[in-house]
Amino acid sequence: GEFVPPADGGMIESIDPSTGEVWATVAFGGRTDIDRAVAAARAALDGPWGRMPGHERAALLRRFADLYQAHAADLAVLETRDNGRALREARADVGGHHNTYHWFASLADKTGGRTIPVDDSVHAFTSRLPVGVVGAITPWNVPLMAAAWKLGPALAAGCTVVLKPAEQTPVTSMELAKLFHEAGFPPGVVNVVPGYGKDGAGEYLTAHPGVDKIAFTGEGSTAKAILRSGADSLKRFTFELGGKSPHIIFADADIEQALNAATGSAWALCGQSCALGSRILVERSIYDRVVEAFVARAGKVRVGQPLDLATHMGPQAHAEQLAKTLSYIDIGRGEGAELVAGGNRLTGSGLDKGYFVEPTVFAHATNAMRIAREEIFGPVATLIPFEGEDEAVAMANDTTYGLTAGLWTGDVGRAHRVSGRIRAGMVWVNTYRYIRWSTPYGGFKASGWGRENGTEGLDAYLETRTTVISTTGRFPDAYAN
Ligand code: NAD
Repeated sequence: GEFVPPADGGMIESIDPSTGEVWATVAFGGRTDIDRAVAAARAALDGPWGRMPGHERAALLRRFADLYQAHAADLAVLETRDNGRALREARADVGGHHNTYHWFASLADKTGGRTIPVDDSVHAFTSRLPVGVVGAITPWNVPLMAAAWKLGPALAAGCTVVLKPAEQTPVTSMELAKLFHEAGFPPGVVNVVPGYGKDGAGEYLTAHPGVDKIAFTGEGSTAKAILRSGADSLKRFTFELGGKSPHIIFADADIEQALNAATGSAWALCGQSCALGSRILVERSIYDRVVEAFVARAGKVRVGQPLDLATHMGPQAHAEQLAKTLSYIDIGRGEGAELVAGGNRLTGSGLDKGYFVEPTVFAHATNAMRIAREEIFGPVATLIPFEGEDEAVAMANDTTYGLTAGLWTGDVGRAHRVSGRIRAGMVWVNTYRYIRWSTPYGGFKASGWGRENGTEGLDAYLETRTTVISTTGRFPDAYAN
């Protein structure tokens, strides 16, 4: 319920990726800070919050959602400063998350169980209880979205939360803490501890025996480390991990619409989105036309200062990501893919100190190349030709990931046939990146465990208890004869 200085962490400087300069100083928590936050969360769970009826939790969440909406424009600017995404994009995304909190508020008093018909001798029923203290660990690319997808359902379910934002982008989560306080949430229900992941607040939170569940969004390798450190306390886990989403364009599609979606989603968030449709599978008869259009559209993307509303694409969010993206562009060249647009770091015109990259297109790639298999997390589109439905489906599924997929066709039968064969948690037909609070989101395979959003998103924060009550009070003596 209050801001406190770090007990054993320190003050960390946060870098603005468009200038490479420090723009904020943030307190980072250590082990003692996590202990204090978890103790506060446990006390709140055992206190008035744990006894608060669902409709009162809903009222608090609604008040928070309204405050969030009132502050959304400022939050969008902060997210842009923190991770460099273009403000026009941040406004559209960040400005919608009050809906997530409202949606989960509407479910807070609908967590009832069911009665189970068995026989007359018993009355059997289920109740659904909050999982308990939740550790929410979020990534740097979409800190406010990832927080909304966790805090909304966790609080609706009656859990308490310790939120650990990514070390590169901690600022907006501190603002959320202020708004939860202002909304009137009791102390200890929502705690925010910025800090490092490995050997820092993230790892301490994950290993902490007082935490019942970890809700994590980030990389698969981090999820494995989290599993290991959480194993001793047998926590519950939900994981929202990476993707290498296929975006399939058949020749019978409305090609202009498909191009809008495919180019828009290949470079969204400067390529730093889990749902990026960066593996673009194109039917061979239209392949050259699509490559040509990609090159033309890459030339139309305005890369620049992210706070400028004319800018389409800002910088990469931090120096390591810039280096990673440039290294994958080298890998693509080395593998024999044809670089047909972009491929360079952008400098000049005031961009020298920032982490800017050109929108990049590789053509004549194969699905076996690393640029088609590994998550680059930069603005790099890889265009791969295919022949016919079977090859499209085989290529789409030939990946360790399974988060999202896009499919463009004018044939309704094909839409059903092909979407029905895709192994991914979200399949979009003749649209892309359509995500709502009410539509479950999450991955098959290495893209995650569980779902966020939708009623499934709430289920992930509830435990089911089955109660069986005898109607007779009679119990047979096992040793009577
Ligand atoms: P990351 O795994 O490096 O870090 C995510 C969070 O984990 C950070 O808060 C970090 O401090 C923390 N962390 C790191 N090591 C830890 C440890 N050992 N123990 C506990 N916490 C630890 O991920 P990132 O680079 O910040 O985010 C990018 C990744 O997130 C991409 O793979 C992207 O696809 C994925 N992502 C997925 C979704 C989704 O909904 N599926 C959404 C956004 C991002």
